[in-house]
Amino acid sequence: MRANVITTLTKKTASRLDYLCRHQSTTSTCTCTAYDLVIVGGGIVGCATAREMIMRHPNMKIAIVEKENALAMHQTGHNSGVVHSGIYYTPESMKAKLCVEGLKLSYEYFCKNNIPHKKIGKLIVAQNPTQVKRIDDLFERGMKNNVPDLQVIEKDCISKYEPKCKGEKALWSPWTGIVDWTVVCKSFAEQFQKMKGDIFLNFEVIGFAEMTESKPKSQLVPIAVQSKNQCIPTKYVLTCAGLHSDRLAVMTGCDLSPRIVPFRGEYLLLNENKRHLCTTNVYPVPDPRFPFLGVHFTPRMNSDIWLGPNAVLALAREGYSWFDINIRDCIEMAKFPGLYKFCFRYFLPGCMEMIKSIFYPLAVKDLQKFIPEITYKDVKRGPSGVRAQALDKDGKLIDDFVFDGGTGKIGSRVLHCRNAPSPAATSSMAIAKFIADKLDRDFKF
Ligand SMILES: Cc1cc2nc3c(=O)[nH]c(=O)nc-3n(C[C@H](O)[C@H](O)[C@H](O)COP(=O)(O)OP(=O)(O)OC[C@H]3O[C@@H](n4cnc5c(N)ncnc54)[C@H](O)[C@@H]3O)c2cc1C
Repeated sequence: MRANVITTLTKKTASRLDYLCRHQSTTSTCTCTAYDLVIVGGGIVGCATAREMIMRHPNMKIAIVEKENALAMHQTGHNSGVVHSGIYYTPESMKAKLCVEGLKLSYEYFCKNNIPHKKIGKLIVAQNPTQVKRIDDLFERGMKNNVPDLQVIEKDCISKYEPKCKGEKALWSPWTGIVDWTVVCKSFAEQFQKMKGDIFLNFEVIGFAEMTESKPKSQLVPIAVQSKNQCIPTKYVLTCAGLHSDRLAVMTGCDLSPRIVPFRGEYLLLNENKRHLCTTNVYPVPDPRFPFLGVHFTPRMNSDIWLGPNAVLALAREGYSWFDINIRDCIEMAKFPGLYKFCFRYFLPGCMEMIKSIFYPLAVKDLQKFIPEITYKDVKRGPSGVRAQALDKDGKLIDDFVFDGGTGKIGSRVLHCRNAPSPAATSSMAIAKFIADKLDRDFKF
């Protein structure tokens, strides 16, 4: 299904545009192309790419527009804070390549820019013979993906890596680490601004328009990036809108598929007096029949220990609790056949996740398999995040990163990052290079 919501500028909007233009550009009075590139979305993908582009093209005028009053307010600011090493992903996929590259680039960046981080490693722990076999498969996959220094750990040695952890066999990834991705995102944005990039907060993009009256035919007609009461002229647009990526894509005539469905991930918090029980990231062996990794133990930079996240359907794209309900989001989900197919496929595990979300002490049973000393009295409800999960028409999860260009006069000058799920924070610097190469190739700056 294609939707064309590209609008033409009204006179009133055009005069507002002139106003904004006069205030953004020192060289022109009005209807100038104020920007070469506008990036929609101030999460880690948008900010990393803005930084990469301005480093490559110091004379280019680039802006980030973000609908919230601060950067990193959604997925980037609500995640596990893990620097992933790239073990799980299908060899040769973009995720596999960009995660391993992103890991190296991230650590270099953290060291160079004094970003606090800890390389505390990660144990993936098998609890039964089926999972023991999968540990060997994961090791092979990790080797194919060039994950550095992976080791298979036999049962008796698990406690050397995590003293209180029990299991039958494990995979040790010493390069896995932790960091606060909000800090990293803001650092990218700060460097971008130092190189004369502009950031507009409280700017929610509601459409794109062609400013036909503003340029002679021989020149590129500027695109107006519109919010409710402002618009910014630009030659090219990149959208990195996370939970709203499908809506932004549709605005430039792209296909509605893949559709974003929000899945909330809720964490439990380990009480302070039990933090000593967990010193590294402890993960279950992922079950290939289910789409998410399973609850894990994650030490945080502020010394908290987060347990989770689970995966429950959220009733709003930015629904951080059961009480956040957005009617528009719910209606769109109700009309999407792919979601019914998905729910049918994962009906039982989905119900179990919901029950454990409501009666959270039940989730402790899963955690006790790894660290038996933990009891339900040692945990309380913690924060949550919402995953932008891309689903196709058949209800299949789109696993890999997806980039899509539009069509037509405006669409052909817009690139959309349509799917950037985990580990996109870890991969952000590599994704930024990938996008920048694509922009340099496809657009004539
Ligand atoms: C629970 C959870 C745990 C995770 N754990 C990890 C992890 O440990 N390690 C890891 O590497 N990754 C992890 N991830 C994944 C990672 O957080 C995301 O892949 C990454 O943050 C995506 O960044 P983004 O910039 O694409 O999206 P976002 O951070 O969501 O940013 C998109 C931005 O676009 C803005 N926006 C949207 N629509 C508009 C509009 N119309 N106009 C203007 N602005 C708009 C939003 O306000 C938002 O700020 C996790 C994700 C979740 C949800």
